[in-house]
Amino acid sequence: MARRRIIAGNWKMNKTPSEAVELCKTLKDLVKNDAVDVVYCVPAIDIVPVAETIKGTNVELGAENFYIEDKGAFTGEISAPMLKDAGVKYIIIGHSERRDIFGENDILINAKVKKAFEAGLSPILCCGESLALRKAGTFKEWIKRQITWDLDGVTADQVKKLVIAYEPIWAIGTGETATADQAEEVCKLIRDLIAEMYDSATAEEVRIQYGGSMNAGNAAELLSKPNIDGGLIGGASLKEDFGKIVNA
Ligand code: PEP
Repeated sequence: MARRRIIAGNWKMNKTPSEAVELCKTLKDLVKNDAVDVVYCVPAIDIVPVAETIKGTNVELGAENFYIEDKGAFTGEISAPMLKDAGVKYIIIGHSERRDIFGENDILINAKVKKAFEAGLSPILCCGESLALRKAGTFKEWIKRQITWDLDGVTADQVKKLVIAYEPIWAIGTGETATADQAEEVCKLIRDLIAEMYDSATAEEVRIQYGGSMNAGNAAELLSKPNIDGGLIGGASLKEDFGKIVNA
């Protein structure tokens, strides 16, 4: 089964609502490609204006964070049903910035994956190793442990709808990209792990992205690899270059 490519922008904490609308307008014609799922994962405050602006285009809406309860006394948080109601389809979970800066652990990440599915959102589950783990040579065990913990209790049918983003932390926002072979090695390892945890049909369907300084110059080579089904793009998603990655 051919997996559909998915190119998702992670805007992080960038773009005010009016800037977000401008960026959508700038990218509108550049990201046209019916063979690819194109997603903008935007800050919470940009969700409503971006949803309005991308109406009728090929772009789908994603969010960057939520809390695991549906509603209640959780000042400052937003819930998965709120995102769903606002038109969000994809949700980034387990990004290294949430793990490292906001202390999110695999127990919370696992709960978020399950809650996202319950609310009808598709998680983009991030995993990836630090430079120290890459140098120590223990990064494969690390990735396997992250995926195993984060998918605890998640069904095969859910995993078929999941997107996993392999994002080596040493390549995020640093300008240093994993080579296409390094990225492919880990994306294949993740697919093999899914086959072990579930079955080969599930492994064939799960989409696996690479993320980490992907740009207009290196996207085509990374995306040509058999186990890389797309990209999660930070810096380059805020520029016209994003259109070149979508069409790489
Ligand atoms: C990211 O943070 O998800 C990311 C891949 O960032 P960048 O493309 O800027 O490395």
